[in-house]
Amino acid sequence: MPDRELNSLLKDVHWLMDILQNIDVGLVVMDRDYNISLWNQFMQNHSGKFPEGVLERNIFELFPDLPQDWFRRKCEPVFLLQSATFTTWEQRPYLFHFPHYRPITGTARFMYQNCTILPLLDTQGNVSHICLIVYDVTDTAVNKRAQIEANQQLQALSRIDHLTQLYNRGYWEQNLHQEFLRFDRYEIPATLILFDIDHFKKVNDTHGHTVGDEVIRQVSQCLREQLRETDIAGRYGGEEFGVILTATTQEGGLDFAERLRRTVEQKAIQTDRQQIHVTISLGVCELAADIKTEQEWLQLADQGLYYCKEHGRNQSRCYP
Ligand code: GH3
Ligand code: MG
Ligand code: MG
Repeated sequence: MPDRELNSLLKDVHWLMDILQNIDVGLVVMDRDYNISLWNQFMQNHSGKFPEGVLERNIFELFPDLPQDWFRRKCEPVFLLQSATFTTWEQRPYLFHFPHYRPITGTARFMYQNCTILPLLDTQGNVSHICLIVYDVTDTAVNKRAQIEANQQLQALSRIDHLTQLYNRGYWEQNLHQEFLRFDRYEIPATLILFDIDHFKKVNDTHGHTVGDEVIRQVSQCLREQLRETDIAGRYGGEEFGVILTATTQEGGLDFAERLRRTVEQKAIQTDRQQIHVTISLGVCELAADIKTEQEWLQLADQGLYYCKEHGRNQSRCYP
C-alpha cells in the first residue's frame, strides 16, 4: 500500500476512534469470554473505571452486580445467530448501576438504560466479539413514569365524589358488581345498605342549598368514620348513599345501619345561624343465592328503604 493511502487510512481510523471515544453513548466490546477489548469515555465517566483497569478483564468480575444470567441470555444469541439484540429500561431499568447527576431529572436515583448488543465479525465471518451500546434514557424514563403516575392520580380522582369524598356512583357500582361475582364464586356473605336523608328537600328549602351541601358532607363524614377497611361506600345520588359490607351477614349489616342511624340522629350540624339535626332511613339486604343480578340486590335494599320512608322514617329495615 502506498504511503499516502496508508496515511489517509490511519487518519480515518484515528478520527473514528475519536468519535467512538466522545460519542454520548456507552461502547463496550467484549470477546467470547466476556473480556473487555474496548471501553469508551462514556463508560469511563459513568463507572469511574479507566480503560487501563478494565481492558482484557472479565466484565462480570469487574461488575459483580451485573445480572449475569440475564445478560448472558441476551448475548448468547448474538454470538450464535449473528443478529443484534436489544434491551429496554422497561424490561430492566439499567444494566450498569450508574448514578445520575442531572439536576432537572433529580427524581432518578440512577441512570435508566436501553442497550443494543451487536455482533462483530472477524475476517472469517465468525462472531469473535460483540459490541454493547448503552444509551442513557433517564429523561424518557422519568417523563414516562411521571405520566403514568399522573394518570393513576387522575383515575383515582375520577372515582371520588367531590362533595363527600366517597366513591362516585360509577365506581361504586363497579365494586358492587365485583362483590356480586365474588359471592357467586366463593359464597362469602355480603350485605348492602342503601340510605337516604329524610325530608332533605325541606333542609334545602328552609336553609338553602349551601347548608344542604354541608348536611350531605357531614352525614358522609359520619359514614366514613364508621367504615371498616373492607367496606365500600359511595354516593349513589343526591343525598342517597350505598355501602357494601363485605364478609358481613344481615345481622351485622343491621347493626351497622342502626349505629349509623343513631350517630346521624345525634349529630348537631352547625350552620352560620343555627344547629340542624337530620335523620336517615336505611334499607339492608344480605346477598343470597336467589338474588340473580346486582340490580335485583339494589332493588331489594331499596324496598327496605322505601318501607322505612312509609313507616315514619329514621329507621332501618332488612329486606326481604
Ligand atoms: P324523603 O324523606 O322521602 O327522602 O324526602 P326528601 O325530601 O329527602 O326527598 P328526596 O330524597 O326525593 O329529595 C332529594 C332532594 O335532594 C332533591 C334535591 O333537590 C336535593 N339534592 C340532591 N342533590 C343535592 C346536592 O348535591 N346538594 C343539595 N343541597 N341538595 C341536593
Ligand atoms: Mg331524602
Ligand atoms: Mg333521595
